[in-house]
Formats: sequence, C-alpha cells, structure tokens
Amino acid sequence: MTLKTLIASAAMGLALFATTASAQDKGLVGIAMPTKSSARWIDDGNNMVKELQAAGYQTDLQYAEDDIPTQLSQVENMITKGAKALVIASIDGTTLTNALENAKAADIKVIAYDRLIRDSDAVSYYATFDNFKVGVQQAESLVKGLKERFPDQKPWNVELFGGSPDDNNAFFFYDGAMSVLQPMIDAGEIAIPSGQSGMDKVGTLRWDPATAQARMDNILSANYGDKQLHGVLSPYDGLSIGILSSVKGVGYGSGDLKMPIVTGQDAEVPSVKSIEAGEQYSTIFKDTRELAKVTVGMVDAVMGGAEPQINDTKTYDNGKLVVPSYLLEPVPVFKDNYKQVLVDSGYYKEDQLK
Ligand code: BGC
Repeated sequence: MTLKTLIASAAMGLALFATTASAQDKGLVGIAMPTKSSARWIDDGNNMVKELQAAGYQTDLQYAEDDIPTQLSQVENMITKGAKALVIASIDGTTLTNALENAKAADIKVIAYDRLIRDSDAVSYYATFDNFKVGVQQAESLVKGLKERFPDQKPWNVELFGGSPDDNNAFFFYDGAMSVLQPMIDAGEIAIPSGQSGMDKVGTLRWDPATAQARMDNILSANYGDKQLHGVLSPYDGLSIGILSSVKGVGYGSGDLKMPIVTGQDAEVPSVKSIEAGEQYSTIFKDTRELAKVTVGMVDAVMGGAEPQINDTKTYDNGKLVVPSYLLEPVPVFKDNYKQVLVDSGYYKEDQLK
C-alpha cells in the first residue's frame, strides 16, 4: 500500500465513522404527556424531544387532553409502533397497568415522568421533583405572605385546595403542606372557616381550574358573610388563577379588601405575571429542562447504557415495587426573586413576562 492509498483509505474510514455517528439511531421512544391545557406540559414535551433526539433517539410525542382512554390508546399505539422505551406522565396513575403488561412482555422499558405510575411492576425508574418538599414550600410561602400582609390578624382564615386525587403527586403536595399548616391549625393560629380539609374534601379532579373556581365561589358565599379570607393553599398555578378570579369577583383586591395570599406551582407565565402585578403571591418553579436531562439518562440506562442518576430508593412505593427515583429540587418564587430564578436562568425571556 502506498502512502497515498493509505491516507485515502484512512480518510474513507473516518468518513464512514462520521456517517454512522451522525446517523446514530438508538430507536424510538414514546413520550405520553397528559395535556396541552397547561404550559408546563408543553415545555416538558418539547424539552424531552430535544434531549432525546440529541442523544440519538427518535421520538413520538403525544398529548391526551386529560382523557384517560385517549392516553391509554396512545400508549398502546406506541407499543405497536415498536417503541423501545416509554416515558409517561400519566393522567390517572392507576389506569395503565394492562397496557404496561404488554409493554413488559415486549421488553419495552417504562419510565414514569413527574407522576408515579401505580400498580405496575413494569416501571423501571421515576424522574420527578421532591414532591413533599413542593408542598412544604407552598405552605411556607403561604405563612410568609400571611405574616407580611396580615401581621395583626390571627387567626388567619385560610382555605385549602388539593390537586387531582388520581395523581399520586397531589397527596405528596398536600401532606407536605399540612406538615407545616396542621400544627398552626392545632395551635389556633390558622382557622379553616369552611371546615373542609383532607384530600377527600379538598381534591380537585383533573386539576381543573373551573372546578377550583366554583368551589371557591361556594366556600365564600357559605362561610365568609362576616369574615375575611386571608389565604388560600393552591397547589397549581391553573387553580390559583381560578381561585383569584373567584375572590376578585366578590371584591378582594379592591378598596380596603386586601387580596388573600394565594400560592401556586409551575411558574406558568400567566401566574408569574400575576405575581408581578401583586395578585398571586407565590409559585414553585420546577425546571423541566433538568427533568428532561435526568429522564434521558434513565432512558439510556434501560437501553443498556450507563447507570442512571438515582437519589431516592425509599419514597415511591407504587403498590408493586419501590420505584428507584431521582428527585430534583423545587424553588419557591416570589415577586422579589422571579427575575433571578426564571429570567437569569434562561428559562423565560424577560419580554415573555411583560
Ligand atoms: C405536577 C405539577 C402540576 C400538576 C398539574 C402534577 O403532577 O407535578 O407540576 O402542577 O400535575 O398539572
């Protein structure tokens, strides 16, 4: 072989390597998301597609508009299409058991995304945030706001809202919040004039803002004739917007009637704007870019690659197994830190929040 042919064949080898590397196809990953009605899930879906494609996977992203049979048939379709792995943010964490049996039989790996999938041994990993801590932070921000806005008015009149009872997270948020609020209720520092507490009474099916708004309307008309509402524990920005409409409808936020402290979750744009405007008091930021990265690590792991990042092997018992999990850190957001947390981190551009 002459030097010339040697160089030529080495170059060909390199070219061949480059083609295989860029056309790397690690197979199809199905991504099942609950709904487009909340911006956070749109961000989740987009981030997942971006990260998975960058890692060499093909993607099939589906939204089910909070309809359980739709999500079920989307997952079944992904299995039929030959997905190698499924990343699922379930609507009802208990309804996928049979479909996931089929996935398991076909050696398709399943990652629970943000919401735990219950009653199935087909789940390999769970990527989420520290959901109990989210609830603690919601309650702590409620108390911080009550102290600031109503320093001399104990007991504070507060109402409690929970998330969807078919979402495992909703119980963690509620329990986390009550770990802060219950001692204050017991000590007489907080009153619940409606008397409604416990997830069976305060849960909001499908996280529906209109349901929360209607419940707030009823509570106000039945219990607040001669009382002032000081605070509302709201577990999600969409519900907070509904609750704020309700309280504004009966005059809070105008004249002498101060706006109650209303919490939230997800740092969705309308809520951040509401915080800027002094209506919603707080929210909890969960960086979906980080969640996507952790999840892709789990996908790679189940496909036979490197070890995934795991930091919790105790908390998430799904009824069949304790699912190895990675819990990311939630961050409380207020009027005085939203720019630093949301804009400086590049999550939002400043003009999105104008
Ligand atoms: C998520 C929250 C979200 C809620 C409603 C929960 O499972 O963890 O971030 O606010 O669903 O979409």
